[in-house]
Amino acid sequence: MQLNDLGKWKVFALESGTFKLDGGAMMGSVPKVLWEKTNKPDDLNRIKLSMRCLLVDDGINRVLIETGIGFKNPEKFLKIFDIDHSKYTLSNTLSESGYMHNDITHVIITHLHFDHSGGALHFEDKQLKPSFPNATYYISDSNWKAAINPNEREKVSYISNNYMQLELEKKLKKIPDNYKILDGIETYVVNGHTKGQQLVKISDSSETIVFCSDLIPLKSHLKLPWIMGYDLNAETTLSEKKKFLDQASAENWILFFYHDPDCVAVRIKKSEKYYEIIDEIRRI
Ligand SMILES: [Zn+2]
Repeated sequence: MQLNDLGKWKVFALESGTFKLDGGAMMGSVPKVLWEKTNKPDDLNRIKLSMRCLLVDDGINRVLIETGIGFKNPEKFLKIFDIDHSKYTLSNTLSESGYMHNDITHVIITHLHFDHSGGALHFEDKQLKPSFPNATYYISDSNWKAAINPNEREKVSYISNNYMQLELEKKLKKIPDNYKILDGIETYVVNGHTKGQQLVKISDSSETIVFCSDLIPLKSHLKLPWIMGYDLNAETTLSEKKKFLDQASAENWILFFYHDPDCVAVRIKKSEKYYEIIDEIRRI
């Protein structure tokens, strides 16, 4: 399987760098003896995560999904999360695909956690500026509300200088749940990880690619009980995942991963006990 173009849409997977999170927190109640086989931890128990954005272009609209972690992070963050831009930056992978920041017309952010929205704004002469100056940015109205008034548990993930300036410059469009942004591009909202996370479905008449974001961050999370400790509500994630994966297997969707460092996308089939991978795109 390849990440082919989809009807009128040209499709590009854009690596934007890597970082690390605690392996135990990523796998929730799953014991380390199980997860360390597929997601090898470093000596601080952290596992590597990619930040793989998706760009689709129909010749008129150039739609970017997610912005990476960006370059505004303080030294302390770089260390704690081992943020690594030495191999990939979004600017580089964009330009290798033939695009510049100015070309982007739509930026869809699945939710405003820092590892997804950090590249939305950048500092220029000490001023925060939109990194995609000609784009409208899309976020769900419910996630916006969660981000501007985060609870104590999520406060560390919602950093206002990743998004507030977009609002001040009227670049941000807050949309209802399950909203059609363009012909062939719709959001699919889930609430277990955080309020109002919008997955993105890109479809033509025969194929659908879904940007799974943090509903299924790593290939390992295709297993139903593997649910991040970070999620606000694991039981909600479980039922959302079941519903989503049932539909994904029935309709043969291509599931695109933001955080899996080795696996770009899969197709799945529902078998008696679990969802079996029937096709996979590995990172080259
Ligand atoms: Zn994430």
